[in-house]
Amino acid sequence: MTKPFASKYPVQSAKEKIIVALDVATASEARRIVTELREHVGAFKIGSQLFTAAGHSLVKEFTEAGIKIFLDLKFHDIPNTVANAAVEAARLGVWMLNVHTLGGGEMMRRTVEEVQTVCEKEKIAKPLVIGVTILTSSNDATLHEVGINAEVEAEVVRLAGLAAECGLDGVVASPQEVAAIKKAVTRHDFLIVTPGIRPLSATKDDQKRVKTVAQAIECGSDFIVIGRPIIQAENRSEAVKEIIGEIETTHK
Ligand code: C5P
Repeated sequence: MTKPFASKYPVQSAKEKIIVALDVATASEARRIVTELREHVGAFKIGSQLFTAAGHSLVKEFTEAGIKIFLDLKFHDIPNTVANAAVEAARLGVWMLNVHTLGGGEMMRRTVEEVQTVCEKEKIAKPLVIGVTILTSSNDATLHEVGINAEVEAEVVRLAGLAAECGLDGVVASPQEVAAIKKAVTRHDFLIVTPGIRPLSATKDDQKRVKTVAQAIECGSDFIVIGRPIIQAENRSEAVKEIIGEIETTHK
């Protein structure tokens, strides 16, 4: 059977827990950051901006160089389209990809099944398939605006439960919801990936549901996604070192 890339849980080392969001506009800037930080962090995330600008050839260049890539395109479409898109992401060699849980159970189940089948058939390492719950830039008011009258935490927990039932490997959620998800979803291998992390001194930018690195690790985040606090730092490797320091202090 094809094994996923990350088969050992919980993820123990501070370095492995850090995913740097490559939220930049050009391939050359992304390459510079990857070269600077690849020895110090676990993985890099390519989202809509860089993917739209630099395309799948950059993803392939990184995966072929042995760099772990989280392809954060938050697929949300009819089940057939999402399953096929996820299969193509697996063929690019990504380590992690995500779909939007609001796309529903059938979409998630079909995606998991087809990725598994193709990876076995083509002997590709199976990527972790993660579900986005509610974006960390959203709050109760944002949900109400689009007609969801639940509170964020209740909605995130419900969507995480559905993702677990559908066989996803985990969810993306705010660190504020990790404890509630862990309580509701008892699958021990269910991963929680948390963006919305800020060092104490940093600004929140457009994030609304934030926590510090230490708080995220304490409540049990498996992976933390950090963009601007690292990417826009004057000295990026120093910024990463500080974050590793915070994680290690929390683990003691
Ligand atoms: O710069 P910052 O640390 O806020 O970046 C967070 C990254 O995580 C961004 O790339 C954003 O797209 C992503 N993300 C998020 N909330 C989610 C899923 C992904 O902020 N629910």
